[in-house]
Formats: sequence, structure tokens, C-alpha cells
Amino acid sequence: MFNDDKTPRPNLRAGRPNPFALIFFLLMVGLFVAYFFRGDTRAVIQEIPYSAFTNHLERNDITAVKILDNTAIEGTLRGGSGDPIHFKTLIPYQDPTLLPSLREKGINVSGAVSGLSPLRIFFEFLPWLIGFGFIWFMFRNMQGTGNKAFQFGKSKAKRYLDEGKKVSFSDVAGQKDAKYELEEVVSFLKNPQKFTKMGAKIPKGVLLVGMPGTGKTLMARAVAGEAGVAYFHMSGSDFVEMFVGVGASRVRDLFDQGRRNAPCIIFIDELDAVGRTRGAGYGGGHDEREQTLNQLLVEMDGFDSKEGIIILAATNRPDVLDPALLRPGRFDRQVLVAMPDIKEREAILQIHAAKIPLGSDIDLARIARATPGMSGADIANLVNEAALFAARKDKATVEMPDFEEARDKILMGVARKTLVISDKERHMTAVHEAGHALLHYYLKNADPLHKVTIVPHGRALGMAMSLPEEDTYSRTKGWIEDRIVICYGGWIAERLCYNETTTGTKQDIQQATEMARHMVCEWGMADEMGPVAYGQEEEPIFLGKEIARHKDYSEDTAQRIDKSVKRILDAAQEQAEQILRTQKEKLESLAEALMVRETLVDDEVRELLGFPPREHSNSLVAPVSGVSS
Ligand code: ADP
Ligand code: MG
Ligand code: ZN
Repeated sequence: MFNDDKTPRPNLRAGRPNPFALIFFLLMVGLFVAYFFRGDTRAVIQEIPYSAFTNHLERNDITAVKILDNTAIEGTLRGGSGDPIHFKTLIPYQDPTLLPSLREKGINVSGAVSGLSPLRIFFEFLPWLIGFGFIWFMFRNMQGTGNKAFQFGKSKAKRYLDEGKKVSFSDVAGQKDAKYELEEVVSFLKNPQKFTKMGAKIPKGVLLVGMPGTGKTLMARAVAGEAGVAYFHMSGSDFVEMFVGVGASRVRDLFDQGRRNAPCIIFIDELDAVGRTRGAGYGGGHDEREQTLNQLLVEMDGFDSKEGIIILAATNRPDVLDPALLRPGRFDRQVLVAMPDIKEREAILQIHAAKIPLGSDIDLARIARATPGMSGADIANLVNEAALFAARKDKATVEMPDFEEARDKILMGVARKTLVISDKERHMTAVHEAGHALLHYYLKNADPLHKVTIVPHGRALGMAMSLPEEDTYSRTKGWIEDRIVICYGGWIAERLCYNETTTGTKQDIQQATEMARHMVCEWGMADEMGPVAYGQEEEPIFLGKEIARHKDYSEDTAQRIDKSVKRILDAAQEQAEQILRTQKEKLESLAEALMVRETLVDDEVRELLGFPPREHSNSLVAPVSGVSS
């Protein structure tokens, strides 16, 4: 219903001088000048008092008169020198003798409507017109030059409409999994009928999850570019302004614009800025951010993806998002945008280095190897800095030493932001992840390994991801026990190879303990405790997170629970240690391979360690569960 609305597109000329405004302005100045000099083009009119007029009449000087509206008289009289003089006089009172005496003297009398000629009216109003025109002109200009004083609530998204250069998937290096998932969105936007005819449900919202600089924004633009649709971009922090209600009205405006321009992509960057769990702020009640979030939820519910609008959003903190945002019909689809590994870093380098003249000594593979822990944005920055260093030295091409210098500058300058990883630390991470990964091949209830990596993910230094062979909604006791064993793989591997452990094990230990506790208290998986629910979980709304377990059992039971949990964990550690100790050689060679290649998928691990290849399942599906760090 909105598609045939022909309302003009938002003003895209803001900032540039407006030719129409300029012409209008010049016209006004011209008329103004003409108004002041108009006297020159007409005969001079003398204004005389009525008494003087009657005297002239007595003396027979008057030759002709024109009576205007019974209020004034214009006419000509013979002056002393004989030249005719044009005069005008106002009639101060109703003079009954005027007309008889004029007729008596035989003077030519005519009438006219007083000065309300169109020209007169125009000139009367001219100063006003100029005034209004000037104010209008200033108003337009102020909007253009970034003075936002008149723009509350107006979506900033319009600035991102029709941006000249199109981005496509080929501008995004790597990210195979993410691209695969987004292909579907692209093909829907290209041809919505194809999908709606089949009755297929199209996701309304897709959430891009990944660390800063991994190319989430780039990816969203690429989706719009690939599909050839309009792209509206707004950052979550733009919604949250000083004035209450502004954010909500911006959301409304953004979606209105989207509807008018369907098919299109609406991209909300930094979703966590508006989308944090409601009520998590201690200020209490309905603050501005909460209103904005509510409006966003309302808008998302209020349209059908059949209209051809897909909402993309990006965040690096999916854990803090309000659960309402992730419900079906909203952002029910998540796409992981991962940090690049060594091969992907090389591909990103290729894209960005293509824009600068490279010296003959450049070895992009070597640069990729020397930049572990860098994101796509860091690499784009690296190439730019290298070009700057070369330019500063008046060189014709960018050479290896320039990249070296640029890297040092970036690593030192933004060490806070970029994870700089020493070789020792990388090796410990590699050993740790290899420990997790290897256990997957020796436990019969565990899901198969998807891939193992020492590329940082979130706050974790590395990751070993597994992938269930089919969708499961419940887990067996055997699966959970094996999962706990895998959790301890990192900790055990560190002890075996280094005889000490790192803080990187915190999450693993936490996960294992939590699972064991659930086994005992909720799932009835500890024989000595039986299938009894111990305690109740409480979900206090104001904290948004589970924080407390309501104790409804005796002190004695508490001790038995602790003992039971400890028994499960001890058994898991023992099993992990036993497997890894006997497979220490494989553990070490897997760690070495990780040092060089950073990421290994299941097939590569099997090939490296001489395991038989697995009958294939679809390896493009996103990872489902993972053990981090
Ligand atoms: P995010 O939104 O995830 O923080 P951006 O999309 O803003 O990251 O990325 C910043 C810049 O980094 C991009 O404009 C691009 O130049 C570069 N970049 C990041 N990832 C890639 C990639 N995979 N391929 C090419 N360039 C990338
Ligand atoms: Mg971004
Ligand atoms: Zn771990």
C-alpha cells in the first residue's frame, strides 16, 4: 500500500548551494531595487492640501480630475509657468459642493477605484515577501550545513540513501558462512514473488554478530548492493538522544522511509545501544532508551516481510540484548561474522592493497602471517598507514618496510583495542584448543568437531566448535558427560604440556561446573541424588539475568549436592587426562598445525592426525555449540 506513494524523496541536495534558492534570492533583490526606483518611471505627483485644491479650482487652474473612491482626487492643473502639474489631494470630508462646482467649471471628471491596482498590491506586499523569502532561504541553508536545530526526530537515515558507490560480496573477503546465510536474503529482495508464491516465510530480521571491525557494516551494505535495493543505515546510538521521545520518533521515521522505498534494507548498527535488556538500568522505569526499544519492537511487528523490507542489525554483544528482540518474527536469525584467520587476512589484504601501488618486494602472505589477532578493519587501516608512510618518504610504491612500520604503529597505538598475542601465548592457546579438539575424536557421545581455531572470538582467545549431526532438543546423560570432559580438555592439555595452567580456563571450568550442577539438581542424572528437583531458579526481572537459586533444601542435602557435583567433575577430569596423556603426540602436532594455520576444520584435523574421513554432513551450517578459550 505504500509502494505507489509518490511523495518526493528526502532532500539529498543538502549541503550543496541550492540553485533555486539562489535564483529566488536574486529575483527578490531585483524587485526590491525596482521598487525604490519606480518613481523615476512615472510622472512626478505633487501632493497638495484640499484647501489648495479648492483655491486652484476657484482660479480655474484645474484642467482634469479623476476621483478615486470618493477619498482622493488626482488631476492636472496649469502651473505658474504654464506647464501642467500632476497633483493629488485627499478629500477630508464629504464635500457636497465638489461635484457641482467641478461641473460648473466644465472640467473633465472621471472616476477610478483607488490605488488597489494589482501592481500596487504587489508593491505593498513586496517587503513582506522579501522578509519571508529571506527567512526561508536561511532555514534551508541551516539544514544543509549541519545545523540540526530544526531536525529533531527526523531520521538521520536519509543521509545514507542512494550512496554512490555500491558494495558487493566481492568486496568482502572471506566470511564464507556469513555470505552463504545472507544469500537467501539477497535472493528474496531480488525476487520476493518467487518466495511468497511458494508460501515461504522470510525472516524479517537478521542479526549480524561479531567483534568490532569484522565487517558487519560492510556486509550489510553488500547485501543491499547485491540485491540492488535502497539501503537505510542508522546507528543505535543515533536513536538515543537527549530529548525523551526523539528516539522513538526516529525509529518511526526510519521505518516510514523504508516502507516508502521498498524493497529495501534497513540496517541498525550497534543494536545493543538501544536493545539492552529492559529494566536492566538502575534508573528504573521508562527511560528514553526503553521507549525507543519499545517503538522498535512495535515497528518490527507492524509490517510483513512480504512488503520487501528486511531489517539487518549488528552487535558485538548479543548477550546483553533484550530477549524480546530475539523472539520469532523479530531478529530470529543470527549470522556470525567471525574474525579473519590467516588465509582470510591475506584475502582482505588483497582487496585493500589493490587500491595502492605495491612494490615488487611485497609478500601479502607474509604480512597476513605477521598480523595475528587483527580484524578486517585493522588490516584496512594497516594498508592505509603503510601508504601514508610511503608517501611521507616520497616513494613511488609501498614496500615491505612501510608495512612493517605501519604494523608497529598500529600495534603500539591501539594495543588496547587489538589483541596483541605473543608467540608463547599463542602456543599456549594452541595447546589448549588442541586439547578440546582432540577429545572430540575419542568420546563416543560427543558431537563431531566442526573446527578449531586460535583466532580470538569475543573475549575468548580461541575456540573449538562442535556441530551436532542433527537437530536436537534434548540431550542424553552420555552427551553431557562427554561435554564436561571436553570442557576440561583445555585445562588438562595446558598441564600436560606446560605443567601449569592459564586464566583462559575460567569459562571452561565455569561451564563444566554449571552443567554438573544442572545434572544433579534438575535433570536427575546423579544416581545418588535421584530424580528430584533441588531448589528453584529465580529470574529477578530487574536484573534481567538469572542470579539466584532459591534454596529449599536442608544443609545436609546441600552438602550431598556438592559432593555429587564434585564426583561428576572429578570423573570427567580423569577421563580427559587419561585420553590426552596417551595421545600426547597427536596433541602436540595439532597444536603446531594451529600455530601455522590458525584454523583447522574437521577434515583437516582428520588428515593431519590420520583419522578416517567422515561421511559428509553439511559443513556450511553455522556452529551450534562451542567451547571457548
Ligand atoms: P564492523 O561494522 O564489524 O565494526 P566494519 O564493517 O565497519 O566493521 O569494517 C570496517 C572496515 O574494515 C570496512 O570498511 C572494510 O574496509 C574493512 N573490512 C572489515 N572486514 C573486511 C573484509 N572481510 N573484507 C574486506 N574489508 C573488510
Ligand atoms: Mg560497524
Ligand atoms: Zn577452553
